Amino acid sequence: MSYNMLDVWTRVLELMENEVTQIGFSTWIKDIVPVSVSGNVFYLNVDNNITQNMVSTRYSALIKNCLFEVTGENFEIAVSVASKEPKIKEAVERKSQRYTFDNFIIGTSNRFAHAGALAVAESPAIAYNPLFLYGDVGLGKTHLMNAIKNYIKADDPEKNIVFVSGESFTNEFVESIMSNSVSAFRNKFRSCDVLLVDDIQFIAGKERSEEEFFYTFEALHQSERQIVISSDRPPNEIQMVHNRLLSRFEWGLTCDLHPPDFETRMAIIKQKLEDENEFLEEEIVELIATKVKNNIRELEGVYNRVIAYKRLIDGEISPEVVNNVIEQYVLDDKNKKPITVKSIIEFCAKFFGVTPEDIISTKRTKEIAFARKVAIYVSREITGLSSPKIGTFFNRDHATVIYNCEALENEMKEDLTLKGNVSNIIKDIKEE
Ligand code: ADP
Ligand code: MG
Repeated sequence: MSYNMLDVWTRVLELMENEVTQIGFSTWIKDIVPVSVSGNVFYLNVDNNITQNMVSTRYSALIKNCLFEVTGENFEIAVSVASKEPKIKEAVERKSQRYTFDNFIIGTSNRFAHAGALAVAESPAIAYNPLFLYGDVGLGKTHLMNAIKNYIKADDPEKNIVFVSGESFTNEFVESIMSNSVSAFRNKFRSCDVLLVDDIQFIAGKERSEEEFFYTFEALHQSERQIVISSDRPPNEIQMVHNRLLSRFEWGLTCDLHPPDFETRMAIIKQKLEDENEFLEEEIVELIATKVKNNIRELEGVYNRVIAYKRLIDGEISPEVVNNVIEQYVLDDKNKKPITVKSIIEFCAKFFGVTPEDIISTKRTKEIAFARKVAIYVSREITGLSSPKIGTFFNRDHATVIYNCEALENEMKEDLTLKGNVSNIIKDIKEE
């Protein structure tokens, strides 16, 4: 039997609208997109993880009942996230393939790390295990890790290589708990040949993620699989709940990356010019390399702007232009819009279907009080402002701020779904 899905879904929505609160309906249900029916499964798409989680936990029984009422059949539902994500993933994938050993310029600042990475790429699990790379942002950690991955992949396409950031490891773990798929999570991370975890510092202090990573590490190390880890600081400065992990980080080889010296900076700019078939006068290359010292990401940023300008005017670049670009670049970096408490309040209001005015008002209905509590907690997590200062944005005193944060923390300890949702909110705000 074939259904006209849209007709069925329209009827389902009508039924559901009477069953759930108005806020619940507009936040979670209204934008669900029915995509197909196969066998007894009704496939639905939503546009983010939080909604997927809410729909498949809190609303699935109701949806099934409504489907039954409309069609007379017992459907299962499958909820997927269909966002822009695949495209982003593709772009990230393409970009990461460009990071290789061939285009990594070696200098005194990174020679040791490069040698360690290459040794591991040539003899995974034999040379050094784990390989631990650390250094400040923009010095080439992610580049080297991708180079390892690309090298091993080219050598043996069959190798199962998993590359993940510390943040994704944590998020995927929380999501697997929420969706009852921890065993699939473990299977993915414990059955690979090579595991690369970039920016491990993100799991620090997250007790269960640390613990999960510890067992992942143990399983892989014992079965002689290669582990590569990067961090913005050395192992002994990572604030872990469990110190046993830190000592293991030092079992293999630990390499640090330093800011590049002048010659390395010159070489990096020249390589970029060559790659892009571009040209800058020697004097200009030197000027950039002299002035942009701290990290390679900045060096690339300034280089890109200078080249963009050159293409725009279709002429020669003067030292004044370079100086202006550098000044502007530094300014832009300083002015990067910080996330404000006001924007957090707006986000949370929209998320929970209330208004920003509600949140800072004295109203105490359940929905508003909950949205307020989350907004207060998220403000503290993201902005790091003091409790009295945060209080002023909510028309409340510092004791109320502390009380709300503690209350939510306690609730999250009991309710992992809530915890996952709140961390997704924080992630979404940061990405906005
Ligand atoms: P990190 O992960 O340490 O923050 P990245 O690996 O993302 O830094 O490096 C920042 C940028 O600088 C990337 O575009 C990378 O390709 C480039 N880069 C870093 N080190 C080198 C190097 N030695 N040679 C060429 N490019 C480099
Ligand atoms: Mg990085």
